[in-house]
Amino acid sequence: MRIALPRRLAAPEPSWTRDVDVVVLGSGAAGLAAALAARPVRNVLIVTKDTLDAGSTAWAQGGLAAVLDPTDTFAEHVRDTLEAGAGLCDEVAVTSLVRDAPTAIDYLEKLGAAFDPGADGERALTREGGHSRSRIVHAGGDQSGAEIQRTLDENAINAGVEVFEHAFALDLEFGVSATGRRQVAGVRIAVLGPGGDVVSVGIVTARAVVVATGGYGQVFASTSNPAAVTGDGHALALRAGLTLRDLEFVQFHPTVLWQGVDSTAQQTLISEAVRGEGAILFDAAGERIMQGVHPLEDLAPRDVVAAAISERMAMAVDGVDDHVFLDATGIGERFEERFPFITRACRAAGIDPTRERIPVAPAAHYTCGGIDSNLDGTTSVEGLYAVGEVAYTGVHGANRLASNSLTESLVVGTRVGRNLAWKLPAKVEVVDERTDDEGALDDSMRAHVRTLMARHVGVLRRPDALASTLDALGAVAGKVAGDVTATRRNFEATNILTVAAAVTASALARTESRGCHRRTDVTSSVPAWERHLEVSLDDEGLAIRGGVSA
Ligand SMILES: Cc1cc2nc3c(=O)[nH]c(=O)nc-3n(C[C@H](O)[C@H](O)[C@H](O)COP(=O)(O)OP(=O)(O)OC[C@H]3O[C@@H](n4cnc5c(N)ncnc54)[C@H](O)[C@@H]3O)c2cc1C
Repeated sequence: MRIALPRRLAAPEPSWTRDVDVVVLGSGAAGLAAALAARPVRNVLIVTKDTLDAGSTAWAQGGLAAVLDPTDTFAEHVRDTLEAGAGLCDEVAVTSLVRDAPTAIDYLEKLGAAFDPGADGERALTREGGHSRSRIVHAGGDQSGAEIQRTLDENAINAGVEVFEHAFALDLEFGVSATGRRQVAGVRIAVLGPGGDVVSVGIVTARAVVVATGGYGQVFASTSNPAAVTGDGHALALRAGLTLRDLEFVQFHPTVLWQGVDSTAQQTLISEAVRGEGAILFDAAGERIMQGVHPLEDLAPRDVVAAAISERMAMAVDGVDDHVFLDATGIGERFEERFPFITRACRAAGIDPTRERIPVAPAAHYTCGGIDSNLDGTTSVEGLYAVGEVAYTGVHGANRLASNSLTESLVVGTRVGRNLAWKLPAKVEVVDERTDDEGALDDSMRAHVRTLMARHVGVLRRPDALASTLDALGAVAGKVAGDVTATRRNFEATNILTVAAAVTASALARTESRGCHRRTDVTSSVPAWERHLEVSLDDEGLAIRGGVSA
């Protein structure tokens, strides 16, 4: 079944225009890095739907991966990344990222980021799941993302990057290039009031549009991602007719703080670095979960740990079927100093992690697939760039290696910005592409869609449940209407539905288990499936290409 979804978000008529050289959608690490690098010679505007720091970047705990230890090598970082990516990484992209990673860390430090020092006064390096070496730099203990966001915010503002906060990117605007090809000409945005109502709609025209809207963790009811991460850039790209790749690969973080069955908001991540420091997973009966499952035991790659936990939960050990336990008591008093944010979050939930086991469960954490793009952010459309978690560059393949994502956001973001500083695409006039197929979904459907996704398109995926979820999402799509009030919540609900349908259709089509995509019917990878799935949206609905026929 092809699910029909709107081709444009329904919103009031534009009442103003604004022209800049470069417009960046989103203000996480990727968008800010791009804006900052382009700014010295370009007029750059960041459009961001909330405050500057509302994306995932500010929440990152572990840090950034780079080869900084003299005994570590690029070859080992590449090998660990390829191994996590389970056959679907682009080795050229991985090598390029790994080689530029140390320079990106130095650059951040020059901008003023303060990384935690080790005993020798050099940057401290920790190890995370899937890494064979200690190569993660961190800041503020477990507040690495906050330090990166602070550093980039300050530098972008000081450099004169203009920012529209509370401005929602709705859809791309297109024109025609001198060679007759469809080229991006700008973006239609809604300026939001304090309650998320629409104050006005306008069009920002630009010679380059950089999509840096982050991932889609909020498509799932259980997620470590903040409220702003609703897959808007993925949905906007689908509506614009672009191809997205490998959306089925959603990395579920094995350990978020479990706060009861009713908890549906962003859940506090209990970083892998806690296991890096020696914490161990147990089930409700006190049995170790990871022993004998993988040679790296509790530091096995995320998908392995998340699946082992989900399998243990499915066994309902001692009647407990929705969480397991992480024992970090062995870290002792050092825990509070090393993990101040996690300590505060646990204590707020009534748990003392230095003395008690922490209840944990898997939750949607990172989206490996995205807008098909290159390691310089270019896409199939002239003038359109994609960077950060919204982009598919080939670096993460079927599963992201921990802490490679912030590194990728910075490296690729900076490349895009520098390239745009060097050369801008030609300007094209906006051509009116309005269609009858405009609509939006009322926000009252959001919880239903997110719950369906968490229950049936989570860590372990049953084919019958995927098929019935796709039907259910098709029924929700039938409720999209042209007269739904234009508000942030309704725009987001429409985007969540669009992405949910694309993820579910992709997960149903990939009839194997690979990386972070685990099917219950085919539990191992199938060699013929060492290929990518593409998803796009046209007037007939969602279409999947690239699969293996049964
Ligand atoms: C709890 C947590 C811990 C993590 N820890 C690590 C880690 O230790 N190391 C690591 O490498 N990665 C980590 N990650 C992943 C990493 O943080 C992200 O992959 C990375 O920050 C993505 O950066 P980004 O700039 O692409 O997106 P984001 O930082 O998510 O920014 C997206 C931006 O787009 C804006 N936006 C979204 N939609 C719209 C719209 N329609 N219009 C306008 N603006 C919009 C948002 O408001 C936001 O400003 C973690 C993620 C989480 C959630």
